[in-house]
Amino acid sequence: MILPGATIGVLGGGQLGRMFAIRARIMGYRVIVLDPDPLSPAGQVADRHIRCGFDDPAGLSDLAASCAAVTTEFENVPATALALLSCSTIVRPGPRPVAIAQDRISEKSFLQHAGFAIAPFRAVGSAAELSVAVAELHLPALLKTSRFGYDGKGQATIEASSEADEAFRNLEGAACILEERVELDMEVSVVLGRGADGQVAAFPVGENRHRDGILETTTVPARIPEGLAREAHEIAVGIANELDYVGVLAVELFVSRGRLLVNEIAPRPHNSGHYTLDACSVDQFELQVRTLCGLPLTAPRLLTPIAMINLLGDLWCRGEPRWEQAFARPGIRLHLYGKSEPRPGRKMGHLNCLADGPDEALALALEGREALLPAG
Ligand code: AMP
Repeated sequence: MILPGATIGVLGGGQLGRMFAIRARIMGYRVIVLDPDPLSPAGQVADRHIRCGFDDPAGLSDLAASCAAVTTEFENVPATALALLSCSTIVRPGPRPVAIAQDRISEKSFLQHAGFAIAPFRAVGSAAELSVAVAELHLPALLKTSRFGYDGKGQATIEASSEADEAFRNLEGAACILEERVELDMEVSVVLGRGADGQVAAFPVGENRHRDGILETTTVPARIPEGLAREAHEIAVGIANELDYVGVLAVELFVSRGRLLVNEIAPRPHNSGHYTLDACSVDQFELQVRTLCGLPLTAPRLLTPIAMINLLGDLWCRGEPRWEQAFARPGIRLHLYGKSEPRPGRKMGHLNCLADGPDEALALALEGREALLPAG
């Protein structure tokens, strides 16, 4: 067990690293962040910030030598960085699950081989392979770059086979997957932590609503039948076990015609787990610290219904949002990530909105965000 007083590290300085660092410091750990951005959200709140690229051997050696254990906050860290770190310190999650999650082809192939239900897909490496895939799958389908896609970026919808060539060119001929567009009843996710001893602690299923490919709200409890929630948990735990995963893992699922299909896995805490910060006895970042440090995992209890709503840079279109409106509403808790440039689509913060039931919580979230907009 790595106990409070020790120094732990995180690769990546975004908001997930920031919330990890804050929670770890509350728990009594020292935290080092490695990130190239001098203004990174996590660097601002860490004990130390190593400012270098994720492929910088000197920076990585410094991090490994200074930390009892290192985790990651985003999946696009080079697998070589994790491999290098793991020569001299504990790295959780390990290089393998991160490499699987950062590449859609390997992610979907892993899920398929392990027997988890997913939307029908084909790996596509060339225009010729795309035309075969288009002929084999039902349209409409989504063409997604295999790497570095996030928040719906690097995706195109193909409604007819005549659109395939242009869609592939627009994605610059990168390795892709073509995936059938499934009918969505709802999107849900499960965030869990798994320890090195195989013990698992999972959070309640979140009901997710997206807008323009970006998560907009997460509502808990999810408004789905109990059996489906149980099945979502079983799938998420099954994936974590199959990967022999250690750390916090998020599993995004589609509910399509009453059936669960796995969409994506993320080898880190997740935006759809931010509700745990205010609604659970242990939040997802504490679970990340606990799995990293080999501490006991206790089952998180849901203390209240809640809805989380993201605050994107678009909210700044008429100037600084009216934060006092959030503070004036009972049940709303404001989280901001310390980012100075509000660009459209950029995640700047979120509201966690507590109420007596999920419908009320979601209504409060939508109303609360609206109230932040300066009069225009
Ligand atoms: P992704 O980056 O793959 O998670 O996609 C972003 C969002 O696009 C998802 O959360 C869904 O709302 C939507 N989406 C992605 N893939 C599909 C699909 N195969 N069928 C229907 N909607 C999808």
